[in-house]
Amino acid sequence: MRIFIIDDDPFIRHLMGHQLSELSQAQVYEFDGGVSAMDAITREHHADDLIICDLHMPDKDGVELVRELGQIGFKGGLVLVSGEDARILQTVERLAQGLGLRLLDALQKPVSRHRLEQILQLNRERDLPQTRRKAPPLPANELKQALSRNELINHYQPKVSVRSGEVTGVETLVRWDHPRDGLIYPDRFIAQAEELGLMDPLTFAVLRRALDDAARWHQQGIELQVAVNISMDNLDALDFPERIEHELKQRGLPPTSLMLEVTESRLMRNRLESMDILSRLRLKRVGLSIDDFGTGHSSLAQLRDLPFNELKIDQSFVHGVSHHASLRSIFEGCLSMAQKLGLHTVAEGVEDATDWAFLQYSGCDTAQGWFIARAMPPEQLPHWLQQWQQRRTALIQPAEE
Ligand SMILES: [Mg+2]
Repeated sequence: MRIFIIDDDPFIRHLMGHQLSELSQAQVYEFDGGVSAMDAITREHHADDLIICDLHMPDKDGVELVRELGQIGFKGGLVLVSGEDARILQTVERLAQGLGLRLLDALQKPVSRHRLEQILQLNRERDLPQTRRKAPPLPANELKQALSRNELINHYQPKVSVRSGEVTGVETLVRWDHPRDGLIYPDRFIAQAEELGLMDPLTFAVLRRALDDAARWHQQGIELQVAVNISMDNLDALDFPERIEHELKQRGLPPTSLMLEVTESRLMRNRLESMDILSRLRLKRVGLSIDDFGTGHSSLAQLRDLPFNELKIDQSFVHGVSHHASLRSIFEGCLSMAQKLGLHTVAEGVEDATDWAFLQYSGCDTAQGWFIARAMPPEQLPHWLQQWQQRRTALIQPAEE
């Protein structure tokens, strides 16, 4: 194992070099700038190498270095260190992840000896979750076949009340049960469905299945509002509300049992038509949620023009909210705006106990995320509901004391 410390401040560089030599058997190399460091790293690099790099350097800054590490396909561990604003560090952190680099940590100076020990431990763990790279899209004809062969299946992710822990609904998440490749997630086929003009048949296949499941749960005494994702692409036919109403009536379900989560997938085609369609869906008492709020796809203009009754704060503003001041500001801003507009609020991406604890005092209505449950096949839901009843008491009690 080799460690490269890149920092133009000789004191910090020597201090870290000294500590790392004491803490590990590794060869430690110090560089006072990005140019000489990149020369050495480009010549030879290994998967167990570790780079600790300052962001602010005179000859080649940390951002350029991160970019070049991405270009040479560096597989080792990377730690970014900065005396700069935490928000710059967060942005470069995302950049490094986007380039597929194995980012172990992003730290503000000074770095403690204990933290260096933790970093060395992390770099030794070979089974670190690799940054997810998008798998290639599937052949176009296969998606058409999948629809005709009913290979698309629904999984459901529960939504729970933050205050009472009561399960209020589920979000339908489509999966492709591919005969050769197994379970495929929508990030690999939705964009393709949009390009091929298959969003309408796909959405209705998902919706019908979701309403079938909702009707079955209803018969078992389980009342859940089912949310289905639609894209603006679905809203180009004026009879869309009637088709939705028809599907609900056929199964004897009230319109309030359905929530449509709307995202703007591409450019909105026809603003007036979508205003027409969405207003009439609300008049019919179908729920409308603005999905992934805060991302480029769901904007303030949509909120201004369209009659939503629920707002889902995007997961990128929720997970980690308790320990990132900038996330907290954005989260609280979205929440307060939604409340003033009289919208029901949902936090997506509640992934751990600290996210959940933060929400307890936030005033947000509903939580959804891995901490509560991952998306599951419909047959697993009744069992999960039983388990949740036990977990729920433990999770809610502290807030009521
Ligand atoms: Mg959604």
